Amino acid sequence: MTRDADALIIGAGPAGAATAILLAQAGWQVILVEQHAYPRQKVCGECLTAGGLALLDELGVGAQVRERAGPELQHVGWTHGATTVTTDMPPCMDGPYRYGRALGRDHLDAMLADRAAATGVVRIQPAKVRTVRGLPGDFICEIDPLDAVHTTQRAVARIPMLRRVPVVIDAHGSWEGSPWQPSVTVPRSPRRGSDLFGFKASFEGARLPEGLLPVLAFRGGYGGMVMSDGGRLTLAGCIRRDILGRWRSRMSAASAGVAFERYLHHTCRELSGMLDGAHRIGPWLSVGPLRPGVRTPDPDGPFLVGNSAAETHPLIGEGISMALQSARLLAGRLHGQRPGSFDAEAYRLIHREVNAHWRDAFARRMHLAALYSQIAMHPALALPLTTVLRCWPPLLTRAARFAGKARPPIDRSPSIEVSHEHA
Ligand SMILES: Cc1cc2nc3c(=O)[nH]c(=O)nc-3n(C[C@H](O)[C@H](O)[C@H](O)COP(=O)(O)OP(=O)(O)OC[C@H]3O[C@@H](n4cnc5c(N)ncnc54)[C@H](O)[C@@H]3O)c2cc1C
Repeated sequence: MTRDADALIIGAGPAGAATAILLAQAGWQVILVEQHAYPRQKVCGECLTAGGLALLDELGVGAQVRERAGPELQHVGWTHGATTVTTDMPPCMDGPYRYGRALGRDHLDAMLADRAAATGVVRIQPAKVRTVRGLPGDFICEIDPLDAVHTTQRAVARIPMLRRVPVVIDAHGSWEGSPWQPSVTVPRSPRRGSDLFGFKASFEGARLPEGLLPVLAFRGGYGGMVMSDGGRLTLAGCIRRDILGRWRSRMSAASAGVAFERYLHHTCRELSGMLDGAHRIGPWLSVGPLRPGVRTPDPDGPFLVGNSAAETHPLIGEGISMALQSARLLAGRLHGQRPGSFDAEAYRLIHREVNAHWRDAFARRMHLAALYSQIAMHPALALPLTTVLRCWPPLLTRAARFAGKARPPIDRSPSIEVSHEHA
């Protein structure tokens, strides 16, 4: 059986699509497989950091993103109970953009996947990668088309297909099992009251001050709101299983999402003012449970990027930017390799190097996100912090800076040829 491409990428979220674009720009033949038809909504707060916007320029979609995205996020807020403290967002002084913005995932993910196709990536969508078998340098992927498949090459009948490639990149995100079985499969964790579930909905007619990104802190969870594209307000957050379960048991026939919304109104009284007169567009979306942490890849299995490599508490709104940066790290490292020239040792070395570089760059930020989340969820911590923030709001600017809001993207290593597109 001959080789079908130099690399196959599982999942066309920001991590997968970005890796596909970067490898294609470096001359690799790439197959990108995504199970959902686009555009599609996704549970996400939709905030892009200033550094993330700069990366989107490198990927060739920056102008499109900026044309459509919501206003610059120049202010950050902390909302707890009936109190909201607002202050300046720290600007990113190193790079073309000072502030982040928000863009719906329906648009962002479709822009990136279209860009991948335009750079020569063969896009197979909607189709699911069911299994990946093989050894470093020689993998067989079983792909199951889920509908009339859209590919950039030709129409594909709805029958399973096999693709043979030397490199597989797993960008499957957080919510699906990995097709690389059984080594990378995370054992199913027991159900715990502390498990966090994520929710997201969009609203029209909300009254959020221009450019404000308020963090919502409430018993058992946290969230955030932002004006995204087209004047839509995106409200996203997480809540503990036990708290939501107790609250839901008081209501008759409310969906989990509606129960979450009512709980937010009950605990964050400021929210009601902001959503007064607004109406929800579409249903609440939910995912979970979240499993924040760094995953250890099988050194003989697919390379991992984005949330399949590591997932952070979404409180700091950095997941997309981290996904793009992890794509850039891996693509930069693979670029030094001739496609198809992989022996097992070279393959394992790349795993180790990319992993180590990633940990150096992000482990601290992930710990900080976990700490901030615990503070936001526990009134015994959030209440005194709210009092301090009322007296000294610049502390919030500092906290946002520590969380990486003003940080430029990490260096790619080693360098990869990319097209630069700036404002
Ligand atoms: C409540 C909440 C709020 C958040 N808010 C923000 C925010 O404001 N800003 C921010 O930057 N981040 C935020 N995040 C995090 C962000 O959504 C993720 O970090 C980001 O989506 C990770 O990108 P990814 O490409 O790794 O994975 P994903 O975006 O999840 O993409 C993975 C893709 O792989 C596909 N897939 C999976 N398995 C297969 C398969 N076998 N075959 C084919 N396709 C497959 C999926 O369909 C999916 O499209 C938030 C997350 C949550 C839960």
